[in-house]
This record gives sequence, structure tokens and C-alpha cells, in this order.
Amino acid sequence: SSPAVPRTHHAVVVAETGGPEVLRWTQADVPAPGPGRVLVRTAAVGLNYIETYQRAGVYPMDLPFVPGTEASGTVVGLGEGVDPTLLGARVATATAQGAYAEHFTAPADRLLTVPEGVDLADAAALPLQGMTAHYLCRSTFPVEEGQTVVVTAGAGGVGLLLTQLAAARGARVITTASTEAKRELSRAAGAAAAVDYPELAATVDRLTDGHGAHAVFDGVGKDTFETSLRVLRVRGTLVLFGGASGQVPPFDLQRLNAAGGLYVTRPSLVHYTRTEEETRGRSDELFAAWAAGELDVRIGERIPLAEAAAAHAALESRATTGKVLLTLG
Ligand code: NDP
Repeated sequence: SSPAVPRTHHAVVVAETGGPEVLRWTQADVPAPGPGRVLVRTAAVGLNYIETYQRAGVYPMDLPFVPGTEASGTVVGLGEGVDPTLLGARVATATAQGAYAEHFTAPADRLLTVPEGVDLADAAALPLQGMTAHYLCRSTFPVEEGQTVVVTAGAGGVGLLLTQLAAARGARVITTASTEAKRELSRAAGAAAAVDYPELAATVDRLTDGHGAHAVFDGVGKDTFETSLRVLRVRGTLVLFGGASGQVPPFDLQRLNAAGGLYVTRPSLVHYTRTEEETRGRSDELFAAWAAGELDVRIGERIPLAEAAAAHAALESRATTGKVLLTLG
């Protein structure tokens, strides 16, 4: 790796699981990129819900660890077997390891190219939530013109992007959000209707003449699961993609029959970025749309990475909209 790379740097380290306070900004060794990996000097880090699950111990991790899978920056070191022309490249990724740090490593075959029209630090706002929104409405349930689909947490990071992508396909998107300010943002992103959670069932009934929605994209989970099933039409699809309110408890499959031959799936981004080609196909399209001004990537908040604990607390208390960027320098 390049002589400009220091031996130590600052990183957010989790030594024990718990609340946001377990995120500690400390001095740590700069990791060495293994075979097929690159070392990147961080421009900015994207905050994602998965980091709260890992920090809290909901998704088990080996301790201690540096969280963070989404970030952008400049390639400053190469592992064995990596194309040397990557040195100095402006990249972003959704598969970083230890991105809550001044440097991180990532697999070279999952690097995303940041186009000239997008600021390098801002680029950390798109990869994970953007590719998630993309696979959900293109691959998991390919949304078609004239369909009615529901998006929960419509003003969230995934929610604002998913609403735009589904509306661009010609679908009528109905969203939920907990405050009027959030519902306004959701409507601006293309939602035909944005309502508070208790009003969802009646709204879907009214707008579909009682038939129900073709699909529900639900990242809230525990608190919304029952309503999400309830608002689907016969043979409708529930795409459960997260549990911001908690994980959905065990479920009797026979209920899918009683409710109308419903489909339920629980996908993750990793299942829809299986190859370099699939990953780049999604991200190149998204970055191009952003650079062209066709996709609005809302950065709701910028919080210094050293204050990651405050950022986690804000995300978990439903205080954020769009993307939360963790900044350096
Ligand atoms: P968001 O920006 O959407 O933040 C979460 C939002 O969920 C909140 O702002 C809040 O919006 C809503 N919410 C509802 N109930 C609760 C609750 N009890 N506690 C906290 N929030 C609640 O986060 P992301 O866009 O990062 O992620 C959204 C979901 O998508 C998460 O569940 C995440 O795990 C999942 N995800 C899944 C992926 C996959 O591939 N499967 C990939 C990426 C994300 P409001 O106040 O309006 O209700």
C-alpha cells in the first residue's frame, strides 16, 4: 500500500453490545487489505439500521468490531490480485468492513464508481439504501404501471428512494409516516397518499375500492406486519425487509391461505447483489439518475463520525428523515 497511509487512525469501536453509548471513538490500527480487497480513505459513512441491530446484539457479531458497511472515499491501498489502476479511484460501496473509521477495507469486485457529477462524500448516501430500494421494486416484486403498492416508513432512507423508484414505474404508492412533516416529504417523493399508521388500512381500502394493494414493502416489521397482511389483495405480496420496530414473531403459514393466497418474502441486499455485474447494474443506474437530477437523494442530516452514538440515538428515536451521513474532517 501507498506510503501516505498511516499505521493508526481513528475508528468507532464496539467492545460490548448495548445502547448507543457503546460506540467509542478511539485510536486503532489501520487494517491491511486482504487478497482481492482494497483499502479506502473514508470521505463519509452512511448510517444504516443494520448497525443498530449489530450494536445492540440483535445480529450477533464477534467483539470487538468496527461497524459500518456503507461508505465512500479514495482507494489508497491494494490487496493481492487487485487491479493496480484502482489506486486513487473515487469509489463507494455497500460491502465495506469497518466503515466507521478513517480507513476501511472492501472487496474490489463490489466497488461502485462515483460519477463526476456527484460529490464524493455525498456518494456515501446512496449505495446501501439505493440498491435496496432498487432490488425491492425491480427484482423482489417488479412493480408495474397501474399497480398500488404500500411503503412503510415512507420518509426514511429506503422509503424516500423506494417511493421515487416505484412511482417512476407508474405505480400508485401509498406510504405511512409518523409526523405530518415526514408525510409532506413522502408526498414530495411521489407518494399518491401519505398517512399515519392507524389510517393505512382505511386509506388502501378507499383508494382500491376494497380490493387491496398488490404489494407492501415493509421495513418496520413487528408493529406493522399485521396491517401489512391485512391491506393486500388476493395473491398480493408482502415484502418484509426489516424490523425497525422489532422482529416479526413466528407466524402460522396457514394464515396466508385464509388471507387470499398471499406471498411473503424476507430478502436482504446480499441476495440481490450476488455478482459484480448485478451490483454495478443497480448502482450505475442509480448514480446516473442522481447525477442527472432525476433521483433526489435526500441527506437529512450530517453528523460527525466521532458522534456516531448521537446518530444512532436519532435514528432509533425516529427523529431522522432520508439519509444520515457520518462525516469526517
Ligand atoms: P429509516 O430511515 O427508514 O428509519 C427507520 C424509520 O422506521 C423511522 O424513521 C420511523 O419512521 C420508522 N419506524 C416505525 N416504527 C419505528 C420504531 N418503533 N422505532 C424506530 N423506527 C420506527 O431507516 P433505513 O432506511 O435505514 O431502514 C429502513 C428499514 O429497512 C430498516 O428496518 C432496515 O433494517 C431495513 N433495511 C433492509 C435492507 C434489506 O436488504 N433487507 C437493507 C437496508 C435497510 P416513522 O417515524 O415515519 O414511522
